[in-house]
Amino acid sequence: MTTPLVEMDGDEMTRILWQAIKEKLLLPFVDLKCEYYDLGLPYRNETDDAVTVAAAEAIKKYGVGVKCATITPNAQRVEEYKLKKMWKSPNGTIRAVLDGTVFRAPVVVNGIRPVVSTWKKPITLARHAYGDVYKNSELYVNGAAKAELCVTYPDGKVEKKDIHNFDGAGVIMGMHNTDASITAFAHACFQYALSIKQDLWFSSKDTISKTYDHRFKDIFADLYETQYKEAFEAAGIEYFYTLIDDAVARVVRSEGGFIWACKNYDGDVMSDMVATAFGSLAMMTSVLVSPDGKYEYEAAHGTVTRHYYKHLKGEATSTNSVATIFAWSGALRKRGELDNLPDLVAFADKLEKATIDTIESGVMTGDLYALSTLENKTKVGSLEFLDAIAEKLA
Ligand code: NAP
Ligand code: MG
Repeated sequence: MTTPLVEMDGDEMTRILWQAIKEKLLLPFVDLKCEYYDLGLPYRNETDDAVTVAAAEAIKKYGVGVKCATITPNAQRVEEYKLKKMWKSPNGTIRAVLDGTVFRAPVVVNGIRPVVSTWKKPITLARHAYGDVYKNSELYVNGAAKAELCVTYPDGKVEKKDIHNFDGAGVIMGMHNTDASITAFAHACFQYALSIKQDLWFSSKDTISKTYDHRFKDIFADLYETQYKEAFEAAGIEYFYTLIDDAVARVVRSEGGFIWACKNYDGDVMSDMVATAFGSLAMMTSVLVSPDGKYEYEAAHGTVTRHYYKHLKGEATSTNSVATIFAWSGALRKRGELDNLPDLVAFADKLEKATIDTIESGVMTGDLYALSTLENKTKVGSLEFLDAIAEKLA
């Protein structure tokens, strides 16, 4: 390795897996060069969360990071960890610094059949993570009333539009998005499609929302035509826009193998649908891509608290490390591509293959054991699973 990978450690069961993955699957095979940031809750608390910002800045500087799952504190965690305050979600902090878009994709293996039988390849979901209903203003209208949209410009110019003349009680909502955020989202989607060489689909409801959703459609179309068309054609991939209803129908009939970009709410709902239909949360990987092409890889699941408490009591655990392993392989592959290190790219491929081969040979953790249709399958513990992968890898 030539450029360091930004390594962000985390909490609970995934912190234990993190250490074991490094010991068993990485250090024996790779001359790892990492810049280490401890995002475990105790150290975030000790540094007043400065470590999280420092890690995000390091990703900006070097371009690629890999992150372990971390606790987002709530009132109970403040008590449990004796925190100075209820620190914000590290993922939120990192996303704010990088202004990125999250892409989630399942790891597909034989024996774990997607509920949708036509799906043969992963579907990657890209969710716009700003605005719309998540930053709305809502009112309960308490009886007959006239509701209007009103925009006031700095020069005093006012634009108004009727929403509804209420005869009786009801509800209204105002929401927004910005050209800057939609543009950043579109760049991240086009960049990521080029990076993994898959088609990009974008869907919205522009037939009904002729100004709001149409703005998204126009920004995507404009960027594609002016900045990405040639590169897409050279890579042999396609961009296409379709109505969200049509997209849903096409996705279900497809065999997968593309990126589906969604507005914030659509992405929230559809990513849970796609993840569930593919089988297991523990097999979902996630990568944050900034509009200027910085990458942060992680597992989509949390710190698996319930398993950690069992582990602390000395009980055996069978926690699935696949998504965390794929976070590492994704980050190492990207580092290898950027630094022109074919051996590192090849190692990432081999690590993924050894992981998939292990599961397909029948050795798996409890969550997959419950789902797998393989006839000869064995349930193994958290660390035994890593040992089995290490053996295949060697
Ligand atoms: P979680 O850690 O994803 O776990 C929820 C349940 O899903 C587990 O109890 C387990 O089910 C199953 N599961 C998830 N990952 C698994 C794996 N790798 N192997 C086997 N089973 C797995 O979500 P949570 O319990 O809601 O959250 C725990 C902590 O994680 C919270 O403090 C939250 O803030 C944090 N979190 C962090 C991130 C992140 O850093 N990106 C994301 C989400 C949540 P069973 O117990 O039935 O076996
Ligand atoms: Mg959701």
